Amino acid sequence: MTNGINRRQFIRLAGFGAAGAGLAYSGLNPWGLSAHADLTHTGSGVREIPTFCELCFWKCGVIAKVKDGRIIKLEGHPGHPLSNGRLCPRGNGGTGLTYDKDRLRQPLIRAKKRGEDVFREVTWDDALDHIAEKMIYIRDEWSADCFALFNHGYGATFIKHLIKAYGSHSIAAPSYAQCRGPREVGFDLTFGEEVLSPERTDIVNTRMLVLIGSHLGENMHNTQVQEFADAISNGAKLVVVDPRHSVAAGKADWYLPIKPATDIALLLAWMNVIINEDLYDKEYVDKYTVGFEQLVQHVKSYSPEKVWTITGIKPELIRRTAREMGHQKPAVLIHPGRHVTWYGDDTQRSRAIAILNALLGSWGRKGGFFYPGELDVPKPETPPYPKPSFDRVDLQIKNYPLAYNTLASGLCDATFPAPQTNCQLKAWFVYGTNLVHSLPKPQQTMEAMQHLKFLVVSDVLPMEIVGWADVVLPDATYLERYDDLHVGRFREPFVALRQPVIEPMYDTRPPWWVAKELAKRLNLDSYFPWDNIEQYLDNRLATVGLKLSDLKRDGVKVFPRQPLYFEDGIQPEFFTNSGKIELYSSSLAAHGYDPIPVYTEHGEPPQGYYRLLFGRAPVHTFGRTTNNPVLNRVIDSNEVWVNRRVAEEWSLENGGDVILKNQDGVESSPVRIKVTERIRSDCVYMVHGFGHKAKRLTNKKGANDSDLITRYNTDPIMGGTGMNVNFVTFVT
Ligand code: SF4
Repeated sequence: MTNGINRRQFIRLAGFGAAGAGLAYSGLNPWGLSAHADLTHTGSGVREIPTFCELCFWKCGVIAKVKDGRIIKLEGHPGHPLSNGRLCPRGNGGTGLTYDKDRLRQPLIRAKKRGEDVFREVTWDDALDHIAEKMIYIRDEWSADCFALFNHGYGATFIKHLIKAYGSHSIAAPSYAQCRGPREVGFDLTFGEEVLSPERTDIVNTRMLVLIGSHLGENMHNTQVQEFADAISNGAKLVVVDPRHSVAAGKADWYLPIKPATDIALLLAWMNVIINEDLYDKEYVDKYTVGFEQLVQHVKSYSPEKVWTITGIKPELIRRTAREMGHQKPAVLIHPGRHVTWYGDDTQRSRAIAILNALLGSWGRKGGFFYPGELDVPKPETPPYPKPSFDRVDLQIKNYPLAYNTLASGLCDATFPAPQTNCQLKAWFVYGTNLVHSLPKPQQTMEAMQHLKFLVVSDVLPMEIVGWADVVLPDATYLERYDDLHVGRFREPFVALRQPVIEPMYDTRPPWWVAKELAKRLNLDSYFPWDNIEQYLDNRLATVGLKLSDLKRDGVKVFPRQPLYFEDGIQPEFFTNSGKIELYSSSLAAHGYDPIPVYTEHGEPPQGYYRLLFGRAPVHTFGRTTNNPVLNRVIDSNEVWVNRRVAEEWSLENGGDVILKNQDGVESSPVRIKVTERIRSDCVYMVHGFGHKAKRLTNKKGANDSDLITRYNTDPIMGGTGMNVNFVTFVT
């Protein structure tokens, strides 16, 4: 037996037939946890229950070990393609969330002024009746589109469905405009497809990996990190471009300590060398791309010598790394990154990354970018959603023509009164995202909330945003609830089940239940045509010949691998205007933007100031986990990385505390100083997500970088908020 599922069970997993559904729904408690769940028991009285993780968005398969109704351990599911038997350090600490003593325990309604964080306890009926009443009022007085949903995480699936059924299209996740949106737009403009999540990066087969400001190893996306380790031990070359000597840089063959905000220049210089020295994939470029001649002309002015003066990277290092890419093509992966909202020209930087990959012929090729497997698992038919009353609310103040998804920052802007708007947002439902930390300019977010007629927050913990709510809904954690099926697109397509491994603690409820209960009160039952969640899941699984009882036992069903690369038989097809890979973007040209990326200078830090960079710690997912007592045994605070020479100038001592002050005079809480040679002298670095101020959270250690992000540069193409444009100095 390994991690609770033996080999025979996995053979059975692979051999599911097309047997129909037909589960009896007896024994369900009101939240969908079956009293007779088909769970694996071991001789020791420990039950091993498969589910999938939610400590970050990667959704790794988990085996939860449960004894006497308490989770005693979480392990990686050996048959799940995103975990391969291992969890990352955060995932192992998931019990810390469920058993966090700070958890929200019952529904609350605001008792004093908004933002004072004073509430009275109410019943679920009281809370839901109140929300439904306000939703009807806002729809009748203004429009359903004036009711916005901000969401993060898989639990939001049914809440999103409810809000769409109610008639609102004002639905956004900060993970787009504040994180990976520019990447998706940049790749879509180039290849006609997005990178997707989990990323379609074939790290395990690559012969050369180039990380540009991407901190694999600190960014603990489980499968990527596993593949990264395998690739390095298989001899793959590694280039790391970063102003900070990250964990990944410690493994690099070439580390390029680039001056912040100059990455586009480096990418263009690499293209210059690769084209000039005929190192590109000629056949691939001839066959699949358009705009090569324009690109050749464009990159002529980005010689390594010139780019050295911009980036600080010596010409011989630019040439050496470019030549190695040319030698290793097409199994070269210029990693697209994930959190890419840095300087406001991020779509263009992502375009430059995509173009370089195209020159090397890596899109659709082994060791580059694969084509993920497809699987259709239809949802039950429901009536069509009502049509929007008017154009997207997030774009009414300023339009971004290639913003494919709704901008969370745009919704925040649309909450302020403005003469040109067709709808000032009147209410927010905030599910699982602490907007005060996840949107830039926290002061602006707090001001926006004061304009609202109504604010609902659903969360597990009493985050800062909870203190602003009119109604608080205590969410069940991912270990206590069902969610919708995860239909995964990776090397193999798969279907995974999230199921409760224990009953919800306190008076908490799963989001599917909240959505269905609200639907009842809003006369939207037809959008939830099922009696309970197990019935919904079983019916959905039946469409691909599976039964819920099988998934409850096995956790995941992996379907056969489909072709991954052009060489496997994938027919190259590019959903761009031209039907080819666009080195020159016709769409950008048509909208008046640079059709090929151009390097533009960004502001320098004022004298005595340093660019503020931020990132992740391997055991935390930003502020979502920084109160987790299990993970805090490893890292319970952040520190500010300061170059040794700078520290000497300011008489800063390693391990001492310092207050940071930004260009607008905003000061941080005291934060521990890390004096190091491993960062350039023109920037400082912090892990994001610490420095909580919410009064009912235990861990308030460290400093909150979000407080210092009082400025951002907006990406003119898709509205992303480039946040690495703030500068800080030291208060001594
Ligand atoms: S990468 Fe880690 S935190 Fe994220 S889902 Fe996987 S195990 Fe959980």
